[in-house]
Formats: sequence, C-alpha cells, structure tokens
Amino acid sequence: MDLNSLTIESTRTAIAEQRCTASALVEQFYGKIKAEDPGIHAYLTLCEDRASRQAKVIDDLTQKGAPLPPLAGVPVGIKDVMVTKGVRTTAGSKILENFIPPYDCTAVARLEAAGAIVLGKMNCDEFAMGSSNENSAYGPVRNPRDTSCVPGGSSGGSAAAVAAGMAVATLGSDTGGSIRQPASFCGVVGLMPTYGRVSRYGLIAFASSLDHIGPLTKTVRDAAILLRVIAGRDPLDSTSADIPVPDYEAELAKPVSGLRIGVPKEYFGEGLDAEVRAAVEAGIQKLRSAGCEIVDISMPHTAYAIPTYYVIATAEASANLARFDGVRYGHRAKGARTLAEMYRKSRDEGFGTEVKRRIMLGTYALSSGYYDAYYLKAQRVRTLLTRDFAEAFQKVDAIVTPTAPTPAFKLGEKADDPLSMYLADIYTVTADLAGVPGISVPCGNTQSGLPIGLQVLGRHFDESTVLRIGHAVE
Ligand code: GLN
Repeated sequence: MDLNSLTIESTRTAIAEQRCTASALVEQFYGKIKAEDPGIHAYLTLCEDRASRQAKVIDDLTQKGAPLPPLAGVPVGIKDVMVTKGVRTTAGSKILENFIPPYDCTAVARLEAAGAIVLGKMNCDEFAMGSSNENSAYGPVRNPRDTSCVPGGSSGGSAAAVAAGMAVATLGSDTGGSIRQPASFCGVVGLMPTYGRVSRYGLIAFASSLDHIGPLTKTVRDAAILLRVIAGRDPLDSTSADIPVPDYEAELAKPVSGLRIGVPKEYFGEGLDAEVRAAVEAGIQKLRSAGCEIVDISMPHTAYAIPTYYVIATAEASANLARFDGVRYGHRAKGARTLAEMYRKSRDEGFGTEVKRRIMLGTYALSSGYYDAYYLKAQRVRTLLTRDFAEAFQKVDAIVTPTAPTPAFKLGEKADDPLSMYLADIYTVTADLAGVPGISVPCGNTQSGLPIGLQVLGRHFDESTVLRIGHAVE
C-alpha cells in the first residue's frame, strides 16, 4: 500500500475489506520509519510490542467477521507529552529521559479502544515550549517538505510524521498554537478543539488553563473522525465538559452557503508575508464562491495577545514544573550533599535553556509585589480578548485568518532570538486564551513550494462549523 496517501478513511476500509492485515500494515510502517525517519527525526520512541499486540486484536476481529471499531487498524503517533503506560514518555526533556509512566492518557486510551494502533511517541519542543521543535532535548525535527526548514512547533514531530506518511494521524497539544502552526508549516490539517472538549488527563501540563489535545491529519474528514473518538466528558478531568459530542463526520455534509464569516483586520497587518496573505485571501474567495457571506470585523485587543500569553503561560508553567525535583520521578542529580542542592542540581541538569527562561519569567510574574502588575493584569486582558471573540460571534458564525505570519523558516534562523520566535504564534494564541476551537487547513504553497495554512476559528463547542468551513477550503 502507498503509505503516503493513506487516510483514516482509506485505512479502515482496506482493513475492513481485508485487503491488508493490521499486522502487515504495522510492519510496513515500521519499515518506512526505519528507512526515512533518520532524516526527519519525528519519532523519539517506537513501541513495536504494543503495536503488534494491538494489530493482532484487530486481525482477530476481522477474521471472525466481527463489527469493527471506528479506527480499526489505523496507525497513529502520540506527541511525547501524553503519558503511555509502559512506554517511555519524555516531554522532549532530559529530565524525563528514563520515565516509564504507569498509566495511559485518556485520549490515547480512547484511540486504542477505538482500534487505533500506536506506533510510537513523537518528538516535540521540551514541555511543548517552542514554535520550531528546536527546543527538543533530543534534537530538532526537519520539515519533510524542505528538510532545511523547521516543521513548526511544538508538535513538530506529530506534523512531520503525517506529512511524511510515517503515521496516518497523530495527536498533538496546543497551548499557544502548537497544533495549528506546525500543521500549517508541514501542509497538513491540525485541529485544536474547544477547551474542555477533550480530556487532559495524562497530558503532561505546560499551562493548564491553555492546554488542549487535538488531532493532526491529512484531511479535514480524518480530523472529524478522530475528534469524535477522543472528545467527551472524562471523570478523570474535572475541566472536561459534559456536552454531547456530535457526529462530526456527518456534519461535514451540511453546506457552508449562508454562513457568515468574519475577517478581522488585525490579523492581516504588518508582519504578514505577502505570499501567505495572497493564499489566505484566495481561500476566503473560495468560501465566498461557496455562498458564504464575508464580513470585515475588528478584534481590537489582538495586539496584546502575545504579551498576555507569555505572562499567563509562564506563570502556570513555573507552578506545573515545580513537580520535577528529582524526588518522585525523572532525573536525579548525583553527588548532592543536601536536599536543596539535590533539587537545584537535578533541575539544572534536567531542564533546557527555554524551560529555565520560562520558569524564571513565570516565577517573577507570580512573585509578591509583581503579581498585581503582571499576572492579574494579564488575566484582565485575557477577559478583554475573550470578549473580542464573544462580540465577533454575535455578528459572524466563524472567523478566518492566516495560521502563521510566515511559511516555515530555516533551522537556526530564529534560534537566538526568542522574541521573533514568540511572534510565530501571533495569530494562534488568541484562540487558546479565549478557549475557542480552531483548525489550520492547507490553502496553497509559496513559489518555493512551502505549504501555507488558513485558520478557521469558531464558537465554543462549535467544532462542527469550524470543520465544515475547513472542509470547504480544502
Ligand atoms: N510556541 C508557543 C510557546 O512556545 C506555543 C507552544 C504550545 O502551543 N505548546 O509557548
């Protein structure tokens, strides 16, 4: 089978019609990964035993002629910030180099219960902090569309594996854009669901009020199929919402004509690459031709999104990362004489530069005397940003923007300039702060052949409309 063109849809049909066994398919994928991944580095860990056990379960079902679950035999990869029972989980960090979790992340458990086969764990920026995957302690990922370029981040391995046909679909996480931005850099589909739509149980926390799990896939239909499997209330995550999960795939059949689509002027200003602008405008034109009404809107607080995000995300990260102290799990420094020295040395040896920078920024923002000036102020601006969305959604059904201001950049190009790296998320962080869903779908290529992504944002829990519009652009 041609692994590069396999979708969830075509894989499950091939398995159901017994054109291929799940075991043979898994073997083919591992063959491709071993041949091609050394040049990309999308995978950090392969779990061949777990995959072949699951493949046998599926093959038994097909042999018996039993009904098949919705993802039967679909090979997937999991960003290495989601814990997997018995399979090393590093979060891209040295501090968790030898960490073997004792339980499964809910989203992973739901994928497997639906018949998916986990091939392995995907490379990512350390603790999901980054926009280029260059912050992984295990080395960067390369963009399969041009290996001199970054794949985006922090779910760079998840996006690259789908683009390179080394997994049919993957899970990523999005705190400030980490599903949508790498999807746009690699030319795949990336969906960030509404905050609370997908359980975060078993997701190693970066910034808990901003973290979302979601799919990276080749098609919008695949994203719809996968979301339905992982979405829904989970008693293990008190922030997961008890709201019915629609049949997203069936929803795709509804026409988009008559939908009102907002185009916010703040997302088309200075810093937007000309080729990206042209491709996104062409995408908007397509929607107009499909009968959507295009409405110019304004989201006046957009300029404050990046600073707000970097105060809140670092504050939450500094608290979440306090648990890595060399005592309970992860790296413990040798040769320390006191407990305090052991904490200090373990964290110094285990964390990379960007993670340390964020812990320091976040600790500062939360410290007494600065809390009101930074953290509290940022929370207030977050409310204003959320109101921008609420007001926009009184006038329109969805919002369309570029996913990122530029196409993929070169490896090393921004590595020494954290601020310009932070600006890669200028169009994505707003949705994380407001908790609304968003998708990035490919909408064209630059002259040099790099993919460009168009972003659709929707109302809380209205992934259906976001997917339908994404599908129309696709
Ligand atoms: N690039 C952003 C950051 O570095 C977003 C990361 C993410 O979404 N996980 O924080």
